[in-house]
Amino acid sequence: MQQSVMYMLNIALNAASLSLILIISCSYLMRRCYRTLSYKVFMVLLLVNGYSALTDIVVGMESHYKASYRVLYFHGGSNTLARFMVAVLIMLYSIVYVRERRARKYETAMLVVLTTAFFGLVVTSPITHWVYSFNSDKEFTQGPLMPVLLLMELFAISYSIMTIAINTRRLTRYQIVGIVSNVIIVAIGYSFSYIFAGLHTQSMTISLTLLVARLVLESPSDFLFMNTYFYNDKACQETIRQKMDRKMNFKFVVFSVENFNYVRQFLGASGRREITTTLMNYLRSKYPRETTYYLGEHRFAVFTSLHAPEIEGIIADTEHFFEHDFRLPGMDIAMTPFFVTFNYEDFDGSPEDIFECVLYPFSAREEFAGSHVVAANTEMMKHKRREEEVRHAIRKALKAGGFEVYYQPIFQGGEKRFVTAEALLRLNDSKLGNIRPDEFIPIAEKFGMIVEVGEFVFESVCRFWNANKLETRGIQFIEVNLSMVQCMQENLASRLRTIMASHDINPKYINLEITETAAAMKETVMIQNMKDLSCVGVGFSLDDYGTGFSTASRLTELPVGIVKLDKSILWDAMKNESALAILRNTIHMLKDLEKLCVVEGVETSEMAVTLRNLGCDYYQGYLFSKPIPGDEFLKFLQNNEFTGTDKAFRVA
Ligand code: C2E
Ligand code: CA
Ligand code: CA
Repeated sequence: MQQSVMYMLNIALNAASLSLILIISCSYLMRRCYRTLSYKVFMVLLLVNGYSALTDIVVGMESHYKASYRVLYFHGGSNTLARFMVAVLIMLYSIVYVRERRARKYETAMLVVLTTAFFGLVVTSPITHWVYSFNSDKEFTQGPLMPVLLLMELFAISYSIMTIAINTRRLTRYQIVGIVSNVIIVAIGYSFSYIFAGLHTQSMTISLTLLVARLVLESPSDFLFMNTYFYNDKACQETIRQKMDRKMNFKFVVFSVENFNYVRQFLGASGRREITTTLMNYLRSKYPRETTYYLGEHRFAVFTSLHAPEIEGIIADTEHFFEHDFRLPGMDIAMTPFFVTFNYEDFDGSPEDIFECVLYPFSAREEFAGSHVVAANTEMMKHKRREEEVRHAIRKALKAGGFEVYYQPIFQGGEKRFVTAEALLRLNDSKLGNIRPDEFIPIAEKFGMIVEVGEFVFESVCRFWNANKLETRGIQFIEVNLSMVQCMQENLASRLRTIMASHDINPKYINLEITETAAAMKETVMIQNMKDLSCVGVGFSLDDYGTGFSTASRLTELPVGIVKLDKSILWDAMKNESALAILRNTIHMLKDLEKLCVVEGVETSEMAVTLRNLGCDYYQGYLFSKPIPGDEFLKFLQNNEFTGTDKAFRVA
């Protein structure tokens, strides 16, 4: 090709490359975008490639118009360096992009070695002429070590492709298409410069790949809400990761509008948007933009920074805003924010752990009832982990076994015999060992497994009764616990009737325990269930009496034959006179209402004697027996007598 045509062509190629770089830069600068590590490398890459195109034009012209050697060497050197640095930056970019992390130690070392080699060889070239020189016609001429640099460049590009290839499972199909296109562009561009020696396609090739990267890989929509330009949850996670990578300490607070769903019913979708926008505008005006995030589901995050107040300040500001400034047209409901604070100093875990942990209180709001500011910390994460493990253990036990029903004999004072027992569930997991029901029952309730668990217990009791004919062993009925969630099931009565029928169990052998809290709720579904089951002969007990909010009048409304006093009532009564008076009066009142009474937690003879003097009907507690497995319970019933030292409780 003619020299002057080549010269013009190179100028045109580089000018086109510069225009592309300008367009890409503008597309970023005109919009708000989240600065990830890969974004930062991308910007440097864009800049260095622009510089390489610009100096290429300059050197071409200077060589054409025979500028001085000093100028030629200066611009020629910086052009060569920029060109090779592009390869190093591509390598860094691929690593950071696919792994979403900083480079590993050995990779950093490779990058440093490559940079130093490029720099050293190029900078010394005006003297050594190893990489390049300008001949007597002032034309750029390759030196003997140029192939070494080209090999290093090839290495950097190959390493990038390899890193991506190894990590393709982390990428979306869309991203993979973008990357493959870029590999093809590079292959074509570089082959051109080999075929047409003297044609400077490099900058244009890289600019094209950057354009593809801009469109497919570095899309700001990943980190922004495109309608409001607010940073999203992904950006928030990225911020956490970056701060942790830099070993920085950081604090932030996440808050949400508590009664939002209630408010939404009044305002509809447009009102909902208005709330979000109003809040966003408030945060935007109050705090620096890099510190505020919208996490979706009406949750906002604000990081402390040099220009933002401390956590307490942010909370105070936000509360003030809701109390005084936040009014929606036509609505007079106070909005109550709920805050979760986080301090990295108190935390031990990964970025994912942090995110999971700060969002946890929002999904388990009942656990934090009564507080409007909660600190997310390692304890909370451990609690959440444990909850997950127990949840898993319950699921496993339901499928493959692991649950066992124990029976705690209940002593009847009048007959001086054990006439009933409470069925209490036990969970033994191969990994976690024995898990207490106080722990696993609430978890089963929370994750919607309690109905299945409850049916397991009910069915086990029916099977046990049928197999051992407990009525012939002096047992009148078995107490089975019902969770509040079960009581609210529309088909509870029919399910339990079916199970009893399939095991040929007379419903009078079953006494269901409902908690005082469940009884206090005037749920029609529950009342209907109780009525349906009472009709066929199932009895009911009111459990944990004295710990909830039920009133004495409620007792008369429900078909409850037995009331179980919580152990705390007995234990308090043993300690002070006024608590004893409460116990005495409660037992009297129950007698007046013609209810039978069970007292739980009877651990000592002294307790038993006190209760006998107060006229208690049934005794349940470790003094008589702990909850025991079915076969032990059968053995226990063979003698069916109290073996303790207190004669008053022995059969005469
Ligand atoms: P609960 O219904 O109040 O059961 C009585 C609890 O008191 C049992 O604890 C029993 O072992 C314990 N207890 C009995 N006597 C004494 C005593 O003298 N001293 C002491 N310190 N404790 C005594 P457990 O078996 O750990 O069960 C705890 C709770 O778990 C139960 O409280 C009940 O609410 C729930 N639960 C257990 N099994 C089931 C079940 O099958 N279904 C449902 N829904 N809940 C269950
Ligand atoms: Ca109970
Ligand atoms: Ca109880």
